[in-house]
Amino acid sequence: MHPDFQTLIVGAGFSGIGAAIGLDAAGMNGYQIVEAGEGVGGTWFWNTYPGIAVDIPSFAYQFSFEQSSQWSRTYAHGHELRAYAEHCATKYGLWSRIRFNTKVIGAAFDEENDLWRIDLDPGGSVTARFLINASGVLTIPNLPDIDGVDSFAGITLHTARWDHGQDLAGKRVAIIGTGASAVQVIPEIAPIVKHLTVFQRTPIWCFPKADVPLSTAAHVAMRVPGGKALQRLISQAYVELTFPLAAHYFTVNPMARHMDDIGKAILRKQVRDPVVRDKLTPRYAVGCKRPGFHNTYLSTFNRDNVRLVTTPIDKITGGGVATSDGESHDADVLILATGFKVLDADNIPTYPVRGVGGQSLAGFWDENRLQAYEGVSVPGFPNMFTVFGPYGFVGSSYFALIEAQTRHIVRCLKQARRKSATRVEVSQQANDRFFAEMMRKRHRQIFWQDTCRLANSYYFDKHGDVALRPATTLEAYWRSRRFPLDDYRFTTTAPSGTAG
Ligand SMILES: Cc1cc2nc3c(=O)[nH]c(=O)nc-3n(C[C@H](O)[C@H](O)[C@H](O)COP(=O)(O)OP(=O)(O)OC[C@H]3O[C@@H](n4cnc5c(N)ncnc54)[C@H](O)[C@@H]3O)c2cc1C
Repeated sequence: MHPDFQTLIVGAGFSGIGAAIGLDAAGMNGYQIVEAGEGVGGTWFWNTYPGIAVDIPSFAYQFSFEQSSQWSRTYAHGHELRAYAEHCATKYGLWSRIRFNTKVIGAAFDEENDLWRIDLDPGGSVTARFLINASGVLTIPNLPDIDGVDSFAGITLHTARWDHGQDLAGKRVAIIGTGASAVQVIPEIAPIVKHLTVFQRTPIWCFPKADVPLSTAAHVAMRVPGGKALQRLISQAYVELTFPLAAHYFTVNPMARHMDDIGKAILRKQVRDPVVRDKLTPRYAVGCKRPGFHNTYLSTFNRDNVRLVTTPIDKITGGGVATSDGESHDADVLILATGFKVLDADNIPTYPVRGVGGQSLAGFWDENRLQAYEGVSVPGFPNMFTVFGPYGFVGSSYFALIEAQTRHIVRCLKQARRKSATRVEVSQQANDRFFAEMMRKRHRQIFWQDTCRLANSYYFDKHGDVALRPATTLEAYWRSRRFPLDDYRFTTTAPSGTAG
């Protein structure tokens, strides 16, 4: 049986775009991308709240083979990143290969024909020899589990689905959450609203960022030979120092231990009121949880119209937020800055997957803990590859992840083509070896400090694992080029239609 497509890619964010470009470069153009939204860019298509911007320098947050000369600032804003995604889709001829406004709602492996049967909404079902999951990780907005959240009579907004038709000027606004999105949105809206009440459960470490418009000299530098490469190298080195080297090599990197002191010095400098400052001071080490990067988040709490509330929320009422001390905080607008479903087994991917013998991927991970060979493939789920899988991401630039995992996937598909194989499956042994290595190396990470228990961090899944790869970007890059292809079994049971 011939599949409808050689490969189906789920998601047209940067991962889906990168995977498609990788397939085209290998001459494997029989693919289709299915995207739930009506545009490309994923995160940067869906998240449009005021102040949204990337947290690492733009020079590192882009494809290495498609470095832009157009960035307006050192840290691009969301609309620029969306424009960059659109530029990539245009330059690499992807628009006509994307089926927009269509959700994948399930995928099941057909063992007889070595292909995936993929259910779409709308659109029935399609078949593909290979399935590449690029459905992201910060994709599905998380709604808070608070009584009465649906009963609020005013306007409710989630940061991940901002409604630009709502004018906040002069309104009383309550915002729940102080994670990375809140860090960006709070300083943006505080000057225009009448009053802002910020409900904080866990404080966030917040560091300044060198966010400035790019000078003419910087733009000229982007155009001279080697200029872009140098900017990228410096940015990537900075990112590497501030996350992978600090978090994964915590026990052997003394620099990481001083980050708390730096964070506290910034708090002292930026927050005037000692009581508010104390409430904003995290009790866990920097790195246990995703930090914020903003120049005016902390000082926003010096404003007369901003109040920080740390008393637990009891319930949401028609008129606002009631806290457990009996106080009512009236509001016209309620902003949920409550993040996303993250490392839940049913979120990566965002749809149910059934492999050999009808086994569910979410069930497999529930039982065996999150694991995937090199973060890409799971035994029992042949012909399926994931860009963001457990223990794939080192936490530096997401683009480094996309390029490494795409390289891994394309190497497998090229081998399948060479061998005329219709089934590609990682061996149990290779998967177990990789998982054991991850477990062995993780003791160096910051996440196992005692204080991380207080961080309420989405890095930890329900098993208490942190499925980030304890390695550097360079190691992940190297391994994507060098992993032994023998770790996969390449077989042919279906009559025809190999990778291509
Ligand atoms: C507010 C915010 C700020 C961030 N800042 C940074 C940063 O500074 N640095 C960094 O490295 N990373 C950052 N990230 C992480 C960011 O998600 C990644 O950098 C990257 O954009 C992820 O790309 P992706 O393509 O894997 O996933 P996404 O961008 O999430 O794209 C996934 C796409 O798949 C689609 N999709 C999902 N499920 C289905 C389905 N079932 N059927 C069809 N389509 C589906 C979605 O609609 C979406 O378009 C940030 C994330 C957020 C939310």
